[in-house]
Amino acid sequence: MQRKLAAGNWKMNGARADLSMIDRLNTSHPSPDCDILLCPPAHLVSQAVAQAAKGTLKIGAQNCHSAETGAYTGDISAGMFAEIGASHVIVGHSERREGYGETDTDARAKATAAQAAGLIPIVCLGESLSQRDAGDALNVILTQLAGSVPADSEADTLVVAYEPIWAIGTGKIPTMDEIAEVHQALRANLIDALGQTGAAVPLLYGGSVKPANAAGIFALEHVNGALVGGASLTAQDFSPIIQAL
Ligand code: 13P
Repeated sequence: MQRKLAAGNWKMNGARADLSMIDRLNTSHPSPDCDILLCPPAHLVSQAVAQAAKGTLKIGAQNCHSAETGAYTGDISAGMFAEIGASHVIVGHSERREGYGETDTDARAKATAAQAAGLIPIVCLGESLSQRDAGDALNVILTQLAGSVPADSEADTLVVAYEPIWAIGTGKIPTMDEIAEVHQALRANLIDALGQTGAAVPLLYGGSVKPANAAGIFALEHVNGALVGGASLTAQDFSPIIQAL
């Protein structure tokens, strides 16, 4: 059985004062059926961990370097995030792939570093609109999966998130059939690659998840949660999404 996960990615948003929503989420969901995770910007991770300690909410990072230490000005390693209490780290997000030229190889190196440090990587995959229009979506996604997931992953050391690039921040989402098709293919490929471990890896959908569409998406087979951007910035929006899961 896959563990369910409602994950919020604040991206480069949010201020210290916004961490108060952690108390609200911990109070509103005192013993949730799913894991709840917030990934604030790096400079807020430590304080977020302290604030979350009163409840069950977990705190993650949005990116890490693949090396443990070294001359990498401005970068933060997985071990550094683990040391301050993070539980997860997002790797291979399309905003890192597009904005910083990160490849599947980079995503896998970061995911491997995260696992070695005791963090759970959330490996992100997803096609562009032109790739979907060309009928290439599944091929692109499965190539990313094969290239980005560490070979010795376990069900409790890996999360995979399908985030169609064209659905991120746009208010558009794929049809339920399209999401189901991708998640079915991801599940089958994970089982091929990892054996029965692959059957238990949590699969998230991300891209314009909102309170109004969350329940429909979560009803799909092989959707075990969501990676939420904009709607994770306030408890008012994120809480009903958690509830729907
Ligand atoms: P939105 O929920 O704002 O579309 O962002 C999705 C995302 O990129 C989460 O990582």
